[in-house]
Amino acid sequence: MSQDNSILCALNIKDNNIKNVSVFDSKINTNGVVKRIKLVKAELSYNLTHCPQCGENMLIKNGKRTTNQRLASFNGMEYHLILKKQRYLCRNCGSTCGAHSDLLVKNHTMTKQIKARIFDMSHESFTLSSMAKLLGISTSTVSRILYGNTKLSERSSYLPENLCFDEFRSVKNVFTFISIDAKTHHLIDLVHDRLSKTLTEHFINKYSLKERQNVKTVSIDLNANYQLIVHKIFPNAQIIVDRFHIVQLCSRALDQVRIQTLKKIDDKKSRSYKALKKDWRLFHLPEADVDATHVKYIVGLNEYSTIQNVIDLGTDQSEVFKQVYETYQQIETAIKNHDSKLLRETLLKYNKNNTVMDTSINTLRKNIKYVSNSCTMSYSNGPLEGTIGKIKKLKHNCYGFRNLNHLLKRATLICA
Ligand SMILES: [Zn+2]
Repeated sequence: MSQDNSILCALNIKDNNIKNVSVFDSKINTNGVVKRIKLVKAELSYNLTHCPQCGENMLIKNGKRTTNQRLASFNGMEYHLILKKQRYLCRNCGSTCGAHSDLLVKNHTMTKQIKARIFDMSHESFTLSSMAKLLGISTSTVSRILYGNTKLSERSSYLPENLCFDEFRSVKNVFTFISIDAKTHHLIDLVHDRLSKTLTEHFINKYSLKERQNVKTVSIDLNANYQLIVHKIFPNAQIIVDRFHIVQLCSRALDQVRIQTLKKIDDKKSRSYKALKKDWRLFHLPEADVDATHVKYIVGLNEYSTIQNVIDLGTDQSEVFKQVYETYQQIETAIKNHDSKLLRETLLKYNKNNTVMDTSINTLRKNIKYVSNSCTMSYSNGPLEGTIGKIKKLKHNCYGFRNLNHLLKRATLICA
């Protein structure tokens, strides 16, 4: 491999017409600030025979023009490409033209390399300034390229069979509705509102009835009231309540009852108190992981014991807590094993005991059909939660967004 090829390979330039490449260290002075940069000098030339204007075979080489282009950086340093481009003159019509490379964008200083790298990085939660630093260009360039070349679409090109619905807090604490394809995780819709009326109108106006009838499942969480509108918009869709949110709801109830039980114990040094307070994680363990045979050192309790023993210490303290614990375990087991029968039984046979668990079970009972769908169908809101996590991270990194369009564009790019 020649030296030219090695340098071009290192700079990730694929154009073979670029020759005589050499790299130097250099300095530039911008407003008194001296910056160290890398200068890449090269020539762009090839044999052009036919004139683009008249089509005659009368072109001759006519000197070179030097241009200054910007390459993407690998180490935060600016990479300036000083490219001598061949000019041609037509003997027939007298017009001139220049050599062109796929690397360059006409009338732009930034090469396609930079554009591609910016869009690559925009899939992650990088801020504009961190992208600019990594690529060795200015923040306003990143902003111009990123926001100028991203369009917000009115509607998705298709409606998939399986959808996920959720919302996230965007600009000025307003909730934005988001939906993605449960299978491919592609973004379907972003609506800057979460009101039932707006969403119904959005889907009914933007998508035909035939498209909407094709939707088979919609995954939602329990917090939002999407149950009511899903049937209106998608007549054939089944609602799935996300598995994680069912367990989370019961797990929170379990913790609250545990703390209530804890407060009733007067002796703060008793073993039950320690078990309930410091070993709270053990109560959330799935039934299969609760070990009744192996003795190990339990940190909070400060003694050697089995996990089953610690849990017994807690559940023996209060009959109500025991009932809540058992309900939680049954629901968790049912969800884990996709056992909709056990889940239904647990929900329907639950006896009220005046704790927060009553409210949780009531909520689940109200949506029992959708809740048991979560056991029989494999779709969940997991992918969408991941996407929203990335959007939240982006918002956190950027210290919030002022411009709604910018946030929505970044969200579109993250899902792309
Ligand atoms: Zn010509």
